[in-house]
Amino acid sequence: MKYVLVTGGVVSGLGKGVTASSIGLLLKACGLRVTAIKIDPYLNTDAGTMSPFEHGEVFVLDDGGEVDLDLGNYERFMDIKLTRDNNITTGKIYQFVIDKERKGDYLGKTVQVVPHITDAIQEWIERVAHIPVDGKTGPADVCVIELGGTIGDIESMPFIQALGQFSYRVGAGNFCLVHVSLVPVLNVVGEQKTKPTQHSVRGLRGQGLTPHILACRSTTALDENAKGKLSQFCLIQEENIVTLYDVPNIWHIPMLLRDQKAHEAILKVLNLYDVAQEPSLEEWTRRAEACDLLHEPVHIALVGKYTGLSDAYLSILKALVHASVDCRKKLFVDWISATNLEDATAKENPDAYKTAWKLLKGADGVLVPGGFGDRGVQGKILAAKYARENRIPYLGICLGMQIAVIEFARSVLGVHDANSTEFDPNAKNPVIIFMPEGSKTHMGGTMRLGSRRTFFQTKECKSAKLYGCKGFIEERHRHRYEVNPDLVACLENAGLSFTGKDETGKRMEIVELPNHPYFIGVQFHPEFKSRPGKPSPLFLGFIAAACGKLDNLLQHSSNVESNGLSKAVGTGVSAVKTHNKKTAMKPAYRPEYVYGSCNGYHY
Ligand code: GLN
Repeated sequence: MKYVLVTGGVVSGLGKGVTASSIGLLLKACGLRVTAIKIDPYLNTDAGTMSPFEHGEVFVLDDGGEVDLDLGNYERFMDIKLTRDNNITTGKIYQFVIDKERKGDYLGKTVQVVPHITDAIQEWIERVAHIPVDGKTGPADVCVIELGGTIGDIESMPFIQALGQFSYRVGAGNFCLVHVSLVPVLNVVGEQKTKPTQHSVRGLRGQGLTPHILACRSTTALDENAKGKLSQFCLIQEENIVTLYDVPNIWHIPMLLRDQKAHEAILKVLNLYDVAQEPSLEEWTRRAEACDLLHEPVHIALVGKYTGLSDAYLSILKALVHASVDCRKKLFVDWISATNLEDATAKENPDAYKTAWKLLKGADGVLVPGGFGDRGVQGKILAAKYARENRIPYLGICLGMQIAVIEFARSVLGVHDANSTEFDPNAKNPVIIFMPEGSKTHMGGTMRLGSRRTFFQTKECKSAKLYGCKGFIEERHRHRYEVNPDLVACLENAGLSFTGKDETGKRMEIVELPNHPYFIGVQFHPEFKSRPGKPSPLFLGFIAAACGKLDNLLQHSSNVESNGLSKAVGTGVSAVKTHNKKTAMKPAYRPEYVYGSCNGYHY
């Protein structure tokens, strides 16, 4: 097993996760099998209890692991399926060591950070790196490890110490350290400044780690002078210094690394240069370039608890991008804070109310994402009602599905106080109820989590067709509440159709309005399994519906069963005129996202 460690210096938010993912993809394109580990030095056992508005979304894995969103990037870029143990936190390591201590496994010794915590970290890395994650048997060739945070953080010290020891343990030729750093350009002098990077490399060396490759984030390619200085002061050969300069979208980054021969530098350090092949990235290049040229807009209203951090809905944004690119549309996400749609806002802040409704009414599709708690619920219900009544494509994910069911019960069945017991524990008409297996006292890892099966009840529904008319599908879950099974018959009689259920037939997984152009709610999170080039079927259907191409897509669904979705897409939506105009507008660069708009700012 060979290891590539990715560390970060100077500031956080340099795109270390995307760099680690791109390195993994690039090595995979060289014919190697790859896996990935993310180290988060915080004390939480996992990301499950962390607020998405502080830390970004909680990504959910097949095994139910609630992990850092970077694991989502690894899965999407490297097309792998990780396990909960691929995300190491200080909390997990300490819990493991303390449990061992309580069992008496340390035989009377004083338990210390060095060697007990540092040994536990090394053993964990080695064990997890050997778990196959690409559907094949046997371990991968290379494991990419990303160390969260910035060099110098107090909490990452034990990890750095452990990784220093680890690099000795695995030996030269098996360990490559890529340090991602910032080279700012000061406006006044317009010069690329290398000092911050020099300091962070010094910090790294001071803690026993020697970088082999420097990946410098800068607005433009590093000039010779800056490169020379970095090489001299950081003791790194010039050919091992690459620039991650601004590109139109993040899918270009693997090519950016390849063009600067980062793969050759890494392969040489790992003694793999002779066995690896030239990277083949044709499909990625085509997709990244096609993405830059898109200009026909599709506007999606994202009605959430939005408070300014779009990372809170990262996988949803990615899934929307995957589907839009496939439909040859440029995605604009119109963020709507659900509370702004509510009557109370009309009085308190009429401008925000007007803007929110204007965005909703101007959207080609309405998406209500997952969420917890009752803030903005009324606004989300109004959004679902608007989409249902005005025949605007609607995709409700998890909470978004529950909202659609509550809205239907209230407006169509006339049960005005229909509610979820999550929002009103004493609801007289609970259409959404607490699941027996959940816990209300312990929040970490107590939901219905991970990959579960959904069985289609009929082939004659949009979701079954989009998924290729398979008998069942497997998608990832994260919820405590569900549709009240006692009310299903009543809701169905009024026109709602539960087209997907779990293996018992009692738990509702997919709801559709058959006579609506596209109104689908799902209890699971299809966004977690969407990939560039392999968009989630429900997102693809949603975007296709939003741009009036759903029929085109569904027409080909009959041969999806035998040929897979891509065939339907290839002959369907993707066959729709592509726009290769040179004059197409290029979006401004944001490292994390491809396209979207945030409060009117399009990126
Ligand atoms: N709060 C809802 C539940 O727990 C929905 C969860 C979600 O959207 N992920 O069931």
